[in-house]
Amino acid sequence: QAYLDRIAALNPAINAFITVDPAKTLAEAAAADALIAARKNGPLTGVPIAHKDIFCTDGWLTTCGSKMLHNFVAPYDATVVARFKAAGMPSLGKTNMDEFAMGSSNETSHFGAVKNPWDTARVPGGSSGGAAACVAARMAPAATGTDTGGSIRQPAAFAGITGLKPTYGLVSRYGMIAFASSLDQAGPMAPSAEDCALLLNVMTGFDSKDSTSLERDKEDYARDLDQPLAGLRVGLPKEFFAEGLNSEVAAAVEAAVNELKELGATTVEISLANSKLAIPVYYVLAPAEASSNLSRFDGVRYGHRAPEYADLNDMYAKTRAQGFGAEVKRRILIGTYVLSHGYYDAYYLQAQKIRRLIAHDFAEAFKACDVILGPTAPGTAFKLGEKSDDPVEMYLNDLYTIPANLAGLPGMSLPCGFDSKGLPIGLQLVGDYFSEAKMLNVAHQYQ
Ligand code: GLN
Repeated sequence: QAYLDRIAALNPAINAFITVDPAKTLAEAAAADALIAARKNGPLTGVPIAHKDIFCTDGWLTTCGSKMLHNFVAPYDATVVARFKAAGMPSLGKTNMDEFAMGSSNETSHFGAVKNPWDTARVPGGSSGGAAACVAARMAPAATGTDTGGSIRQPAAFAGITGLKPTYGLVSRYGMIAFASSLDQAGPMAPSAEDCALLLNVMTGFDSKDSTSLERDKEDYARDLDQPLAGLRVGLPKEFFAEGLNSEVAAAVEAAVNELKELGATTVEISLANSKLAIPVYYVLAPAEASSNLSRFDGVRYGHRAPEYADLNDMYAKTRAQGFGAEVKRRILIGTYVLSHGYYDAYYLQAQKIRRLIAHDFAEAFKACDVILGPTAPGTAFKLGEKSDDPVEMYLNDLYTIPANLAGLPGMSLPCGFDSKGLPIGLQLVGDYFSEAKMLNVAHQYQ
């Protein structure tokens, strides 16, 4: 009830939630009380959580930030949502996001931009901007996010919270509306690394309903939080500290490196030479996959359908013209183009080859270090409208986050101070496959 009251008071100014339904939340809270009374509770039973509106939630509106799904009530729970429910965590509602998770500022949402709680003239980052803003404003103690090219880490950085994108395949994608399936991964967003560890314990695990879900033994991601950092080798990629990085962000990240050294870590310079190609590669592969995934929104099966049309083709065309916003249309056009006969070899195939080279750079780097450290984003939260007319400028914001998605590696962002405007700065850690517990250990010791 306390969180619902805070949402009622603050959400009109922040716009972090698309849907709240207090009666449903309180019914789930009562179910959590029953679990506790029956002594069937886990460590998080009764702690509420907000879900990004990309996750299907049984009986709740699930819009993915799009007019296309403005009236879609999901008939089942995504596996991630089902796991949090089974753990006794009541849902506080569905959080705002860029349309179909395409964006870095939350401005592409059909439901309006989210405002950054640190400065409401600024963006909260995206695409999980509602999730980041609701945690930062303490409208929720935790939230789910998804990260295809940085959508957990960059908004976490802009909002001064902690967010983690797990190794690809660790968290089920079942019931998570697909953007680019080979890159999409769900993860936790919360104030601290310790919170993220406990949330990750609930989220992970094999799911036969997701063909890319990995079969691995269950881990306790909180097990190493208190380990000392003596002997830790921190890799600093020279490409992540080069031109284009805001000097205040660079200074805050360097100060964090010094603090880790005081805690016993050593640093080593590494090179991720192909990471400069990450943005062009991503903007071939992600739109290619998106153009295929979004073909299901045809006006027949879910959501919006044009009210008037001449025949079936006209119905498809009008429905999609009305239902999708400009950024989604841009991605569908790019994706369709790079997959078309005659261009496939020149773009899609080339991009897949460079993707392999980017992953190889990381594999080499992890021979010399245990964790890679750098900035999460080149700057802090920018002003609403500042980049919305220039897609390429917007895309460049994901310069440091996209390489981990292309390689399938885990990455996280944690707060490391403020710039002179009082805006939070994010520090990024990228780990080797399945090294989440190690990354959380480093983050927790730093925090
Ligand atoms: N900002 C990137 C994009 O627009 C990444 C989004 C994401 O991770 N979902 O595609």
